[in-house]
Amino acid sequence: MHAHPPAATGFAVAGEEIPANLLPELIFLLGRVPIVPYGTPGTPELGDRVEPYLAEHDALLLANHGAVTMGRTLDEAWIRMESLEHAARIIVAARTVGSPRPLDAAAVGKLESAPRPGATGEGCLRVVEEYRGHSAAAGRAPAI
Ligand SMILES: [Zn+2]
Repeated sequence: MHAHPPAATGFAVAGEEIPANLLPELIFLLGRVPIVPYGTPGTPELGDRVEPYLAEHDALLLANHGAVTMGRTLDEAWIRMESLEHAARIIVAARTVGSPRPLDAAAVGKLESAPRPGATGEGCLRVVEEYRGHSAAAGRAPAI
């Protein structure tokens, strides 16, 4: 799923990853959310930039653009997009109030080692490959 959620996109525009040690929900549902280097929207360049991240992540920020989340179903990807934006808003609020206090390494480790629902975007890689094949056959560039 691709969207331009304002708070999460703010992190992408600032070139700052959403900290992965502040909120249990973020750690448990999404894991680390890397920033994919900028690629022109709607072109194969952006797809090429995104592809290397798909197998290892369930959510991505697109530099100066927006966010992408993956899931086994559209609902799962949508929940991850909502969770990403919700976490970004909470972190921005925490910074407004004061200095966010990170979870300690043991707490983060427990969350990271718990089995996550629908981990990794392997299914999404298959969809991208199928979409590219379909788009090439139809003479269109894949758009992300
Ligand atoms: Zn977009």
